[in-house]
Amino acid sequence: MSDAETPPESEFDPVAPNTGEEFEPVDVFPDSDDFDLRPGADSCYKCSTCDTNCPVAEVDDDFPGPKFQGPEQWRLKQSDDDHEIDDSVMDCSNCMRCDNACPSGVPLSQMHNTARGEYVSEQMDKLSVEYIRNRILANYRTSAFFASKVPRIANFAMNFGPARWVMEKTLGVTSERDFPEFANQTFREWWADRGGQVQSRENARAARKRRGLPEDADKKVAYFHGCYSNYNTPEVGKAMVRVFEDFGYEVVAPEQKCSGTPMFANGMLDDARRHAETNVSSMSELVDEGYHAIASCTSCSMALRQEYPELFDIDGIDKVAENTFEAIEYLRIHEDLKGEVQAADVDGDLAEEFAYHAPCHSRNQGLDRQAVELFRDLDGAEIEDVGDSCSGISGTYGWKEEKYEKSMEIGEEMFEHMDHADGETGMTECPTCAMQMEHGSGYEIRHPLELLEAALVE
Ligand code: SF4
Ligand code: SF4
Repeated sequence: MSDAETPPESEFDPVAPNTGEEFEPVDVFPDSDDFDLRPGADSCYKCSTCDTNCPVAEVDDDFPGPKFQGPEQWRLKQSDDDHEIDDSVMDCSNCMRCDNACPSGVPLSQMHNTARGEYVSEQMDKLSVEYIRNRILANYRTSAFFASKVPRIANFAMNFGPARWVMEKTLGVTSERDFPEFANQTFREWWADRGGQVQSRENARAARKRRGLPEDADKKVAYFHGCYSNYNTPEVGKAMVRVFEDFGYEVVAPEQKCSGTPMFANGMLDDARRHAETNVSSMSELVDEGYHAIASCTSCSMALRQEYPELFDIDGIDKVAENTFEAIEYLRIHEDLKGEVQAADVDGDLAEEFAYHAPCHSRNQGLDRQAVELFRDLDGAEIEDVGDSCSGISGTYGWKEEKYEKSMEIGEEMFEHMDHADGETGMTECPTCAMQMEHGSGYEIRHPLELLEAALVE
């Protein structure tokens, strides 16, 4: 990559990590219990910065953009009770880049999620192919649960050409992409076989002894693994557990459902609420016992931190939001992670040059430079940022037949930068960005936690 293409240095300082104090889950309407969107709408001064930062608007001239989807549509609704939500709200991918772009702090994604939820529940035909397809995609956890019972058959059937053709013609699920493989053993099966929390406590104790830490050090985290690390990439969950235990943390893997991310994006707010209730209930009990919630997927941490308190009023929700962290972010706050990585080296199949993409949702949490800053001094591996564009897949968005081409057009900048990067292995924290990276480049994609495990864990 030439100097002209090198991304600008961010304010990120890995030596003085985010202490967590600067990160506030978006508390949009602190004095309101009814999610009043008026103050947010009134803050909009129509600068259109959000529109110029919207990846969908950039490739689709018919998409009216975040300003219309948010404050303008909200005002139309207030002035006319019968106003119907414009169906273009379904073309928003929920990448949330507009949230970050707005200089006035307008809660755009909260407005979009609210409008999309209303559109789906009030206006969408529940017998339409689009609704049925979106519901299936949004409830990936259900399909993955059944597929994981017979992973070999599922892996064959899901990528069997004629079956994919039928799925595209009848349901509108693109046949252009390969379905992700289901693991032969889920993360939770591995976790249980290994001895669960009891074994983790023992491993943490041994690591504390090795590190000269007090045996009763208060180090415990609750892992929100999400659907993908459970059913498709358990190696990410295993890496997360091993790294944390190596730092002396006892890990628990509480009862959990989908974070709700694909449900928000498809306007299925009732489904999302049901899942959020389970997640908040189990996580808030653990927070009361001194645990912090840790996620390896940046969209999961985003959901628990921001979308839950923006959209739902569930007992314990603010407590969970305030105590949720992305996994590496948490270690940066509580450990000398940079120092440990600088003293380490890596060999074997992770001794690679990585083309790193920061997911949009990591950007919203201020984590977009984290992996690059952390691994730039790691002996045996190289990491290069492939720029700040959106990957284009946005979860279920790029799986919809009518949105596939748009999704690939948005991803084009990332594909080009991957092509120009020295490495031919990709890296990202988001499982669907990983799918898009693999699809557009043909590269194998790894998670930063896997590299951290290879560097630090014996
Ligand atoms: S960036 Fe913010 S203030 Fe500017 S038009 Fe968009 S919502 Fe309004
Ligand atoms: S969430 Fe993303 S796709 Fe949707 S309006 Fe905002 S920037 Fe555009």
